[in-house]
Amino acid sequence: MKISDILKDNEVTLSFEVFPPKTDALFDSVEKAAGDIAALKPHFMSVTYGAGGNTASNTAELAERLQKQHDVTVLAHLTCVAASRDDVKKMVQTYRAKGIENIMALRGDIPKDGRKSEDYVHAIDLIRDIRAIDDSFCIGGACYPEGHVECERQSEDIRHLKDKVDAGCSFLTTQMFFDNNVLYNFLYRIREAGIEVPVLPGIMPITNRKQVSRSVALSGATIPQRFRTMVDRFGDDPRQMQQAGIIYAAEQIVDLIANGVNHIHVYSMNKPEIAAGILDSFSAILGR
Ligand SMILES: Cc1cc2nc3c(=O)[nH]c(=O)nc-3n(C[C@H](O)[C@H](O)[C@H](O)COP(=O)(O)OP(=O)(O)OC[C@H]3O[C@@H](n4cnc5c(N)ncnc54)[C@H](O)[C@@H]3O)c2cc1C
Repeated sequence: MKISDILKDNEVTLSFEVFPPKTDALFDSVEKAAGDIAALKPHFMSVTYGAGGNTASNTAELAERLQKQHDVTVLAHLTCVAASRDDVKKMVQTYRAKGIENIMALRGDIPKDGRKSEDYVHAIDLIRDIRAIDDSFCIGGACYPEGHVECERQSEDIRHLKDKVDAGCSFLTTQMFFDNNVLYNFLYRIREAGIEVPVLPGIMPITNRKQVSRSVALSGATIPQRFRTMVDRFGDDPRQMQQAGIIYAAEQIVDLIANGVNHIHVYSMNKPEIAAGILDSFSAILGR
């Protein structure tokens, strides 16, 4: 199913993100975790893609299995930062052959080994190419409520985002954020700029202290005092931190839905227990 169809009624939806293994040896355990998340019946699941293309075959394989064996709509990610036109064409054809209908088109973070594509600079180039190769995909793009780290002015970032959407994005998913007001301000600004597609807030449940120094710091997301206090208080006890992190994310979600932001995307990080905890926290709102 196309994600644009899932989102069109503006009823509350929930999607989960998983990442493929970097090595084939880990495939079975990742598939098991992703399958357990699929069993929670999200509206769709996304499968990430290594920026340098190093997970290409595992992304495609996991996406296909989730869709065929677990009966869940899948959004397969694709990055272009280190890809050639030929690589992209092959991946798009692979996704098509595997029955994938949705692609998250991303530039990708610059790989540490400095490899760079000669054919692509920005995600918009990838979107145009996917459209040219096969116009039947539903395409999503990334957006940054606090601005992308490489962009000095948010107004410029939003101008690029508008071009990206106009090139053929049917929806956008945000980077993580921990203060909903950041998202509300961003939505106001992009709607003013004429961006009308659905925006899925990306919610990251922070369930261990290390995530704060790793992914949160890398994302450049502002850390509110309330969040800092939670990590200070519970960060040394894994069970307490997991519970507190799920509650924090659930509170963000309930506030978003109360304010009319209905399509929730959760960075579930291959952790079925976290995905289940989040789902439980607003199952009645989801109509379950
Ligand atoms: C929801 C989500 C999912 C993600 N999934 C993955 C994944 O699976 N794999 C992965 O490796 N990474 C992933 N990322 C990270 C992403 O690849 C990085 O954030 C990357 O640095 C930017 O990708 P983008 O697609 O947003 O790039 P772009 O849209 O190209 O934007 C990148 C920067 O370039 C600027 N820009 C855009 N167009 C122009 C232009 N025409 N001229 C000048 N400047 C321009 C933008 O303002 C921005 O600063 C994800 C991010 C998000 C938010």
